[in-house]
Amino acid sequence: MIVKKQLSTLKAYSPGKTIDEVKRQYGLTKIVKLASNENPFGSSPKVGEALAELPGKLALYPDGAAYALRQKTAGHLGVQPEQLLFGSGLDEVIQMVSRALLEKGTNVVMAKPTFSQYRHHAIIENAELREVPLKDGVHDLEAMLAQVDENTRIAWICNPNNPTGTYVSKEEVQSFAARVPKTTLVIVDEAYFEYASAPDYASALELLPDYENLMVMRTFSKAYGIAALRMGYAVAHADLIGQLEVARLPFNTSAAAQVAALAALEDQQFLQNCVAANQEGLQQYYDFCEKHGLKYYPSQGNFIFMEVGKPGDEVFQQLLQKGYIVRSGGGLGLPEGIRITVGSKEENEEIIAVLEQVVQETKETAL
Ligand SMILES: *Cc1c(COP(=O)(O)O)cnc(C)c1O
Repeated sequence: MIVKKQLSTLKAYSPGKTIDEVKRQYGLTKIVKLASNENPFGSSPKVGEALAELPGKLALYPDGAAYALRQKTAGHLGVQPEQLLFGSGLDEVIQMVSRALLEKGTNVVMAKPTFSQYRHHAIIENAELREVPLKDGVHDLEAMLAQVDENTRIAWICNPNNPTGTYVSKEEVQSFAARVPKTTLVIVDEAYFEYASAPDYASALELLPDYENLMVMRTFSKAYGIAALRMGYAVAHADLIGQLEVARLPFNTSAAAQVAALAALEDQQFLQNCVAANQEGLQQYYDFCEKHGLKYYPSQGNFIFMEVGKPGDEVFQQLLQKGYIVRSGGGLGLPEGIRITVGSKEENEEIIAVLEQVVQETKETAL
């Protein structure tokens, strides 16, 4: 067989160890997984109720156009239904857009490190990568702009950025979108939009009417808590979305994901409660970092990146042995630290207790 040669330079996505694997390996009974920025509070009870009605309808294909969810989401965002492109998780939307826009001879500009899938699909589509290091953990939009040329098909802005949790303001996004060529699509990935609370953070959605070369992405996997079902979407000008629809598989989002996302969207109270709890959780980590003078990035997401004084891989191992699964910065391009998803108050306390030990040991070995 002959597979595209660029595939040989990539690895299949590794989601890390499963809860069952860790239990077996370390003989533990309780595992806390705070590695993938899932919602520690689950999802709205309304989601379960909506899914309970599915069993009678499983023989039929889902609505490929996701009509009901499309109407609901459009109303929620204040955009036209034709401006939305749904995918089986935002991951699939990233793949679809990459497939539709990229090919040999084109290039993509993105931050480094940022969400891994932009890079992954650019390589598969044979586009040239132009990765621009974060500046103090934040997208360096001026340096990114300098990398954009007439062959740049996509400029990615992950806002808030995964894995740092940092953000750029709406004015910065606007100034960037205004200065790139009209042939460059600026994609603002707002997977963590619901959690962002900085006074000068705003969604790029407000800029859409003025910029035809702008796209905003969102997901139901994070704050809405239905990662298992896979549902994400892009918002852009209807003309562009219409062109991209051609690259969408006929029944790409399942009936379960569609009804669950609709129900999740209807329960804004659940969402607000999760966002408030996340704020308090972040504060627990900030307090811990401040107390020990550890480096961290104030986060606009439901995760925090911090440096505990030892390589991220080692801290990851220490937490793993005690039953806490987090992400080492090693695999994320920031080997000095770890990324922890903010959990419930108790889970955060437990992890912080282990981290206290790590900090203590580090101090002792330094003596
Ligand atoms: C989690 C995440 C996604 C993908 O979300 P899914 O909808 O679960 O595929 C996309 N972008 C960023 C920045 C993410 O953190």
